[in-house]
Amino acid sequence: MTTFRTARSYAEDLDAADPLAGFRDRFALDGPPPIYLDGNSLGPLPRVTRARIAEVVGDEWGAGLVRSWHRWIGLPGEAGDLLGEHLIGAAPGQVAVCDSTTVNLYKLACAALDARPGRTVIVTDDDNFPTDRYVLQGIAAQRGCELRMIGTDLDQGVDEAALRDAVDDAVALVSLSHVAYRSGALADMAAITAIAHGAGALALWDLCHSAGAVPVELDASGADLAVGCTYKYLNAGPGAPAFLYVRRDLQPGLRQPVWGWFGQRQQFDMGPAYDPAPGIGQFLTGTPQIIGTAAVQEGARLLGEAGIGRLRAKGVALTGYLIALADEWLAPHGVTVASPRRDERRGSHVTLAHPEAWRISQALIRAGVIGDYRTPDRLRLGPAPAYTRFVDVWDALDILRDIMTDGTYMNATVARPVVT
Ligand SMILES: *Cc1c(COP(=O)(O)O)cnc(C)c1O
Repeated sequence: MTTFRTARSYAEDLDAADPLAGFRDRFALDGPPPIYLDGNSLGPLPRVTRARIAEVVGDEWGAGLVRSWHRWIGLPGEAGDLLGEHLIGAAPGQVAVCDSTTVNLYKLACAALDARPGRTVIVTDDDNFPTDRYVLQGIAAQRGCELRMIGTDLDQGVDEAALRDAVDDAVALVSLSHVAYRSGALADMAAITAIAHGAGALALWDLCHSAGAVPVELDASGADLAVGCTYKYLNAGPGAPAFLYVRRDLQPGLRQPVWGWFGQRQQFDMGPAYDPAPGIGQFLTGTPQIIGTAAVQEGARLLGEAGIGRLRAKGVALTGYLIALADEWLAPHGVTVASPRRDERRGSHVTLAHPEAWRISQALIRAGVIGDYRTPDRLRLGPAPAYTRFVDVWDALDILRDIMTDGTYMNATVARPVVT
């Protein structure tokens, strides 16, 4: 970064010139704020969502009762189309908001295997998010399939050459994360999808760390299937329902394994046998979570208004600035950057490595900076572009520099709680 300067006034100038600066006030970041760099784990509450949830609970549920189902029944598809339009590059009718990422991954991975009869291999990478690896392990165990793991560099993400070596005509499905949860490494969706297709396999993408942070072009990249959560960059709240994407031309040929009544054609005919709905509706299961889905709509609209192009530009600037400050201030203390340095290969968070990362993360939280720890020795800092200021990055790194200089982090406990 040629113009990089270490004075706080430089960060203030960047904030003054930030076209998204006004969006911070759209979030309920009230009170004496900690410096929040963990929106990649749980996004903050948009003010509009607080109002919308009050309306859904008070008016639609409280007063409308069961009559409100007339308006609620279409919500999973409406929220999905909003995500598709503003954030993940999908034309209408291909995205639904439902269930959790874990469950949606199971549904789509099973559907993909069934669509490739005779093929018995699933390919993923050994640093994929735990739930992805576990779900795929479970499917492989249930069906007597092979789960083929490619080795991935913890800092640089999926290696396309290793993937090319791992796919052959026995592979039914390649299932990977678009942005790696630990390092933030950003995979080339179009190139990797093409590798899968070259071997006749389907590609299933996990967008948990990309949706709302980096541009995703599902239709344009040729992706077959995708899943993702809504409580990270999409700010829909803890446990809000996830989304799934099934490319339109694949929909008639796929059959997901959970045959629930919300996936049924003419659901209220209550017919004797399962007859899947045409289109994306087949991929629903049971009664959708309405309050959470309303929050997904508000999150998608808010980020859509900010614009994914502007969010990405700011995310690159914030993470680039964070890396520059880390090089300048923290490298002398043995802290290294464990995320890709090339902007186009990095998502919206930066991971730092240090043998005492756990104790440093605890000292940081005590000092008012909320990031998180990830095994084995990583500190994750996520400056989500919708509400993080450049001065937040400056202040956080300044505090971190103090912590490293005075060494008091060594007083923090080494015992880790259930949640890190
Ligand atoms: C956060 C995250 C999940 C979470 O899945 P849930 O079913 O919502 O618990 C899955 N995959 C990735 C890559 C994630 O980052």
